[in-house]
Amino acid sequence: MKAAALRLGGIERSFDHNLLIIGDAAGLIDPLTGEGIQYAMDSAKIASDVLCDAFMSDDLSRKSLKRYQDRWMKEFGNEFFWSMKLCLVLHRFPIILDAMANYIKSKGPEFLANWAEVMTGTKSKTFYLRPDVAIPLGFEVVKEWFRQRSARV
Ligand SMILES: Cc1cc2nc3c(=O)[nH]c(=O)nc-3n(C[C@H](O)[C@H](O)[C@H](O)COP(=O)(O)OP(=O)(O)OC[C@H]3O[C@@H](n4cnc5c(N)ncnc54)[C@H](O)[C@@H]3O)c2cc1C
Repeated sequence: MKAAALRLGGIERSFDHNLLIIGDAAGLIDPLTGEGIQYAMDSAKIASDVLCDAFMSDDLSRKSLKRYQDRWMKEFGNEFFWSMKLCLVLHRFPIILDAMANYIKSKGPEFLANWAEVMTGTKSKTFYLRPDVAIPLGFEVVKEWFRQRSARV
């Protein structure tokens, strides 16, 4: 059995002359959630569309197949950038996760549904940058910091 580390967030070039790379092989995995099923299926669909056009025009050149990368970048690739940023922030400040859990609990099921949409890639991660989300979340982080500090004392 052989294994290799998975690449996260999409590789720089997933196409070449006569070649398209999809799914995990192309690193189409959300760096924050580790989810890749949806992106594997979406990239396969995009690849099949691009290949159909390429066969119709008898052009399987690197230039023609570049449209595949352009499409997945547009549909979900750019989102991986925000996932990676968020992932690094949460790694550095795990208290934000505790604060997020408190915040979600206080906001109820509607906000939880929004949060789930963001985490599964249906909504953009920039949702967390909206002032009506980021500011109360910031307060929650401060509250959580005091809570954890007083629990330690
Ligand atoms: C434990 C675990 C839990 C996960 N949980 C989730 C989750 O909850 N949600 C989510 O979205 N994603 C999850 N993922 C990630 C998800 O499984 C992958 O992102 C997704 O399956 C990628 O699909 P794929 O078609 O690119 O690759 P794969 O599903 O890996 O398919 C590749 C196929 O190619 C076959 N293969 C390999 N080499 C050869 C060869 N030489 N010849 C012929 N066939 C070959 C393999 O046997 C395999 O069947 C999880 C992954 C793991 C490991």
